[in-house]
Amino acid sequence: MSLVPESPPRSWAEIDLAALRHNLKAARGHGDQQIMAVVKASAYGHGLEAVANTLEKEDIAFFGVANVGEARRLSESGIRTPIYLLGGTFPAEREEVVAHQWLPCLNTMEEAQHFDQLARARGSIVEAHITVDTGMGRGGFLPSDTPSALTAIRALSGLRVTGIGSHLPCADEDNGFTTKQFESFDTLVESLPKREELTHVHLANSAGLLGYQSRTTTLARPGLMLYGVPPITNGQVPLKPVMALKSRIAVIRNLPSGHGISYGRTFVTTRPTKVGTIGIGYGDGYPRVTTGQTPEVFVRGQRVPLLGRITMDQVMADLTDKPECNPGDEVELFGSNIPVEEVALRAGTIPWEIFTGITPRVERVYRG
Ligand SMILES: *Cc1c(COP(=O)(O)O)cnc(C)c1O
Repeated sequence: MSLVPESPPRSWAEIDLAALRHNLKAARGHGDQQIMAVVKASAYGHGLEAVANTLEKEDIAFFGVANVGEARRLSESGIRTPIYLLGGTFPAEREEVVAHQWLPCLNTMEEAQHFDQLARARGSIVEAHITVDTGMGRGGFLPSDTPSALTAIRALSGLRVTGIGSHLPCADEDNGFTTKQFESFDTLVESLPKREELTHVHLANSAGLLGYQSRTTTLARPGLMLYGVPPITNGQVPLKPVMALKSRIAVIRNLPSGHGISYGRTFVTTRPTKVGTIGIGYGDGYPRVTTGQTPEVFVRGQRVPLLGRITMDQVMADLTDKPECNPGDEVELFGSNIPVEEVALRAGTIPWEIFTGITPRVERVYRG
């Protein structure tokens, strides 16, 4: 039997781990804080294990994940760095949290009491951080309730509170509100009894880290900026894109003027047109809603426009002015030539959603 070589992937995401390390350095260069690397949603689609393994070698303080499934994947892949759960847990998840010594954030007394009970039943102690709701409205104790909640939680022998955190709803949108939020968080932390027991004080996501200063925080929780996208324009911090979404031209054809392209025939050629069909679509996570918003792709050193609707598996590009293109040529959908922010803008969404929407059909290819 002859060995048939496996074909290269049709669409793939190149993940540049050297760029990831560069962006971590940029985050560290911004104030004297420890880093909780936020790796939820498979490290924003970049691949949980590969990203975590790379960052662990750089001595970060915590990994931040969204749920126990992600925490379990990190533990199973041999990660030793403490794992922090960024949101509230379901009652049925807590036993596993205690057993693995993942760090929960505490949002309610009910949650704290349940963790305490589970920990004492196992003869262990759960290390946790308390969450304060300074404006996000998603979880945590109100600032006015926090001092008494902290005192009550400290009285529970199965829990040890080693940190306090809060989250920013609009650090990339509302400077006035966010400035006040930093001030009220700092004031609250400064007022807490036995403050020195709270080793980890954290508030900033990427935008908070890049745009604001705190008197009390010791830890920042960047996500997006690690992946090379600045959430706010800040010329001083040069970030490098980590992911490049790529595919190849499958078919090149010459179509006459007046020929419709793709579903709905929303585009009809107005000149003899050389059309390249590319092997990627919304089934890979390239957003269909970019249709009509003049999306472009990058091929052989130049941008070319996409034509007609994005289909599930293929998109069509106008190659009329690119006579040198051939089937098999590489195409960048976003990356160092087309910023992911541009695709997000054309899709009417945010880069976080574009990254996390890249589907498993897209092979992640690592370098650096
Ligand atoms: C997702 C998340 C972050 C990271 O936010 P970025 O804007 O991607 O930097 C930080 N903190 C919490 C609580 C989060 O949920």
